[in-house]
Amino acid sequence: MSEATKSDRKLRQATLLVHGGTLRSQFGEMSEGLFLTQGYAYDSMEMAEKRFKGEDPGFMYSRFSNPTVNMFEQRMALLEGAESARATATGMAAVTAAILGQLKAGDHIVAAKALFGSCRFIVEDLAPRYGIQCTLVDGTDLDQWRSAARPNTKTFFLESPTNPQLEIIDIAAVAKIAHAAGATLVVDNVFATPVFQSPLKLGADCVVYSATKHVDGQGRVLGGCILASEAFIQAHIHNFLRQTGPAMSAFNAWVMLKSLETLTLRVTQQMRNAERVADFLAGQSQIKKVLYPFRKDHPQYELARRQMSGGGTVVVMDVKGDKAAAFRMANAFSVIKISNNLGDAKSIVTHPATTTHQRLPQADREGMGITEGMLRLSVGLEDVEDIIEDLQAGLAAI
Ligand SMILES: *Cc1c(COP(=O)(O)O)cnc(C)c1O
Repeated sequence: MSEATKSDRKLRQATLLVHGGTLRSQFGEMSEGLFLTQGYAYDSMEMAEKRFKGEDPGFMYSRFSNPTVNMFEQRMALLEGAESARATATGMAAVTAAILGQLKAGDHIVAAKALFGSCRFIVEDLAPRYGIQCTLVDGTDLDQWRSAARPNTKTFFLESPTNPQLEIIDIAAVAKIAHAAGATLVVDNVFATPVFQSPLKLGADCVVYSATKHVDGQGRVLGGCILASEAFIQAHIHNFLRQTGPAMSAFNAWVMLKSLETLTLRVTQQMRNAERVADFLAGQSQIKKVLYPFRKDHPQYELARRQMSGGGTVVVMDVKGDKAAAFRMANAFSVIKISNNLGDAKSIVTHPATTTHQRLPQADREGMGITEGMLRLSVGLEDVEDIIEDLQAGLAAI
């Protein structure tokens, strides 16, 4: 039996992140067990028969479920306040299942334009190959969501804050529009993290994560997670994952479980560092614009405050000058590493126009506000003074 659910006592988030979902074996191990096993031995043929009929709740095969993966799923569900969770091999496996698991040929998706590149591929290129049409909207414009809905619209999909413009989409308002249209709402909550935003409480039907980002948070393994009501998981996700097989490995689940113990501590400190970095950059003459959701000059500051409990760990700046100026700045960093990941304990700088968003035609990029001078900073756990010294060196090199 799971330790955290043994009694009816309602435990708080920090406690759940350490103990939630723990399954202890007969050895009483303190640290969560790593069950590297494909299959499970049954006591008898009768037991095997019952398991396959769903009359005995044990494990059958690790493509379906595994004790270590199960612990990770339970802990994520407790953190998110979701009835049910399913882990996947990557964030993209989670997004693909959450979207395609609900749809069939003839259905229609409405999605915000400002999506992670691979998520755009799923809705814009992949889904139409299977007869599922997609309309892309400016996610911040509620009228566009309203007018894009059709009788065959089955799901709305968005990410907030968006990558890399850090636009905030009103999740509660979009959820209402989706439900009025008879559709569900799926939210990619990577940038906000489960610590700073709870889309299910705002009315979303399903939340997806790339656990690769803040959940691991230490740049090691890939993973994803889908969270929703038990009814949503049973109707759309459970069988899709079992039969198509994008299962999270037990090893990765174990790494993620240990990471969850420190998730709140890490992202809270990263957020404090990000706030300092944003305030520092805002005062610099070589920087045209700084974007951070919890700074008063963010165009959607009020909305950010309303639906998030922290501004997150990513700061975006627009360097005066062109691509060369942005490159000179980033090339001068030494503590901040040049990479395209985010949410890591190590600070990371990315030039979206030439890396994560280079696939988009220039006109699309410009329409989304992704300029040649834009740098995205994922702020890490270093001493913030060392990060700021790096930024000073970068500013001097512009
Ligand atoms: C990274 C990321 C993904 C994809 O996750 P992977 O683990 O790389 O597959 C999806 N959405 C957002 C917002 C991301 O940042």
